[in-house]
Amino acid sequence: MRQPLIAGNWKMNGSKSSAEALLNGVVAGSGGLSKTEVAVCVPFPYLHLGEQLLAGSSVRLGAQNLCTESGGAFTGEVSGSMLADFGCRYVICGHSERREYYGENEASIAQKLTRATESGLTPILCVGETLQQREAGEMEPVIAAQIDGVVERIGIEAFAGIEIAYEPVWAIGTGKTATPEQAQAVHAYIRGRIAALNGSIAEKLRILYGGSMKPGNAAELLAQPDIDGGLIGGASLSADDFLAICLAGEQLAA
Ligand code: PEP
Repeated sequence: MRQPLIAGNWKMNGSKSSAEALLNGVVAGSGGLSKTEVAVCVPFPYLHLGEQLLAGSSVRLGAQNLCTESGGAFTGEVSGSMLADFGCRYVICGHSERREYYGENEASIAQKLTRATESGLTPILCVGETLQQREAGEMEPVIAAQIDGVVERIGIEAFAGIEIAYEPVWAIGTGKTATPEQAQAVHAYIRGRIAALNGSIAEKLRILYGGSMKPGNAAELLAQPDIDGGLIGGASLSADDFLAICLAGEQLAA
């Protein structure tokens, strides 16, 4: 049985005071959760606040990106070791917004995954197809290329220390969620692709669903056999909504 992971992706939202309130709210409401792992991936400037306010709680801290390099003259970048220094456990890699707006591709994402694991972080590798790709029947080849392009570069063994998030691009921030059946089919496809290379890594691999997961749809998504948690964007900006999703994970894990 894989322990569910519910991770919030705050994206570029919030202020110092709203981040403080949200972190305090998540800590206050997550005390009773024992079967579900909870994480919040906050913007870089709030990492220190996160480190302070999550201390002593079971809520893990995460970041949303890191540099492809380990250090040096890379103005404006943040290294994996810096994230680890602030107590991060997780870092999101290859989110579709970064692929689309910042030109990330399998080569740079593979470098980021390596930098993350070298720094003791657990990367959350995002994959997913656009609506156009889905409608053209290209969903499986697209996901396969996103996974294979990374596996070829870092090796399948690295997936023992990686989480995957399946995030259909058409469901991110749109209010359109994949149906539990649609999501399960892709999760099973991803697990099968990894299993073809290493069955035991595939069995332990957590595959999170992301794309308009909300309190109202979380339970049926999380009930699917290959959905091991959620990467939550919009709903993670409300402590109540985020905690309701965590509770759905907890009840299913019970
Ligand atoms: C995300 O961007 O990781 C995400 C899942 O966003 P939302 O929940 O808002 O669709």
